[in-house]
Order: sequence, then structure tokens, then C-alpha cells
Amino acid sequence: MSGVEGEFCGNCDGHNCFDYPYRVFCSTRHAKNLDPIVDTLWRCESYNPVSQECYCVREALKAKNGGGEMQR
Ligand SMILES: [Zn+2]
Repeated sequence: MSGVEGEFCGNCDGHNCFDYPYRVFCSTRHAKNLDPIVDTLWRCESYNPVSQECYCVREALKAKNGGGEMQR
């Protein structure tokens, strides 16, 4: 298993891709009547690891570290 660098909204099982890869839609927060649009690299107390690997965090980290440079 590769690509999981930590615990972020982007690899939580409540997230859905929204403004890929920078922001995600969190269905967990939506269910709590909280603002569901969060940073991919943020993490809330309801974090629950995603069962299916997703590219959101990987791409968000790449965009952040590369200063906005997209993949070649
Ligand atoms: Zn995703």
C-alpha cells in the first residue's frame, strides 16, 4: 500500500471530491450541519480512514509542495 502520507480529510471515508485536489466535500460534517467544504489537507476529530485509496491527498500534497505545479 502506498500513497497514504497521513490522516487528512482527503483520505477520510466521509470525503467526496469537490474542488480537486485542493478541497473536498465532507459528508460527515454535512450530516452535522457544519460547513462541508474543507481543505484536503485538513483533518477533523471525526476522521475515519478511507477503505479505498484515493488520489486527493497525494495530489494536494504535490500541488502544495510543487507550488501549484501540476503533474507532468
Ligand atoms: Zn477523493
